[in-house]
Amino acid sequence: MPRPAWLCSRFSLVLVALLMAACGGGGGGGSSSAVVTGSAASAPGSDDNSALVPVPALIPDVAEIEVSRYALWSDELASTPLIVKVRESGSTAPEVAYFDGFIGGSGARLNHALFDDGSHGDEVAGDGIWTLSFTLDLAEPSALRLYDGMVDILPLTIRTSGRERTVEMAVVSRALQGTVNTEPLNASVIVTDALVSMVDATFDGQTLSDVTENLYSLYPDDSFDFLVIFHTRPTGDGVPRSLGVRNAIGGINLGDYDTSAAYGSAGRLQQVIFQNANLTGREVIHELGHRWGAFLDDPALNLSIPTGFHWGVSTHVGQLGNGPFLLADGNGGYLVTNANGSEDFISNAYSSLELYLMGLASPAEVAPLRFVTDPSVDARFGTTLPESSTRVVGIADIVAVYGERLPASTTSPKAFSAAFVVVSDAPLSEAEYTLSTHIARYVGGASDGGVRNGGLFELMDPPSFAAATGFRASLETRLPPAG
Ligand SMILES: [Zn+2]
Repeated sequence: MPRPAWLCSRFSLVLVALLMAACGGGGGGGSSSAVVTGSAASAPGSDDNSALVPVPALIPDVAEIEVSRYALWSDELASTPLIVKVRESGSTAPEVAYFDGFIGGSGARLNHALFDDGSHGDEVAGDGIWTLSFTLDLAEPSALRLYDGMVDILPLTIRTSGRERTVEMAVVSRALQGTVNTEPLNASVIVTDALVSMVDATFDGQTLSDVTENLYSLYPDDSFDFLVIFHTRPTGDGVPRSLGVRNAIGGINLGDYDTSAAYGSAGRLQQVIFQNANLTGREVIHELGHRWGAFLDDPALNLSIPTGFHWGVSTHVGQLGNGPFLLADGNGGYLVTNANGSEDFISNAYSSLELYLMGLASPAEVAPLRFVTDPSVDARFGTTLPESSTRVVGIADIVAVYGERLPASTTSPKAFSAAFVVVSDAPLSEAEYTLSTHIARYVGGASDGGVRNGGLFELMDPPSFAAATGFRASLETRLPPAG
């Protein structure tokens, strides 16, 4: 049975008939934040596959955090003041913690307490809003690892008594300064060649249609297949999500539906990605993949994990497999583990199976994969399974259950368009709109990405959309003329 369009995950947005795929693994910033919180770099910290993978005891989120900037120029890490605010009812001072983990950095761990006594930038003593005005006091990195060597990431962990949340601070090469021109469209919106920056302090991260309707009032030609929306304050669990808007594709286990009008689109819009406050955007390629997958969860051939629409325990390596990998142990068994890049999905290309679902590969190009499809098999992380608990799934098996992918790759669309939007409480700084524009340009470009080393943390650098498809498809992220 195709999935009805109204099936949603636990996160409810004020929109009708939407389909969402929640994405945990990349949401917290990948390996870098895992290191900061003391877990192994490869810790499978996804909400979505927790039924299969033992994750460290979850530390509840700090609910309300404001950091005054999400991007800084790389040569101002020592000097530019930041303000961190946390609402916290306890009497123990929250703290902000981070490592100097850049290339050339000292590796030092820095902790700073926040204040609720009217000092250090705190506005009202004793009101439960803890504040710290401070500088990071870090030297300029000697090299940057992401987005064509122009961006790096500093995870800031905000801790209160028993709770924490990591916020990514982006560091932007000064070489990008002056490469982005802005044009005001009205009192609250400026645009660049690849970014719409909306100031809207009332946006709560829930009513995405307010944002999209505003966008379509400025760009009424209905020229976007995808919208990628960022918010400078985290909402809810902070995890990026894909919202299905429209589907008429067969063979991917989605029913036909069209909710584009609810977003202000005249029928072209297919998907809205809500990146939440993950402003470095490294999950965007993964989220784009959720337009087409991984919805193959029919009991007759269930290839996905129970929640989140990611590939189940398998030899799959691509963008939508957050989960465990089946590693041949040399004795005829398979170890359920993270291996062969399965945990590095942010930096992977799409797999042949994903390209097939996207309409970018023929059935004959889909490589057979070994899956655990029997729900009675205990495939917990670290288990070694006999071969008989697994099965090889070929494209004929998939087509037999889910039907042919229609339209086929010979006639399916290959050229897509996306608009990138940042919603903020106050106007963006030059470093911020330059970063977000650079990311949008990069996603629409031709870079390959990969795993980046050199500093204290290993970082996943995503490929551009075109590179992730093996240059079988393109994504236009430059905006058309407004109005
Ligand atoms: Zn996902």
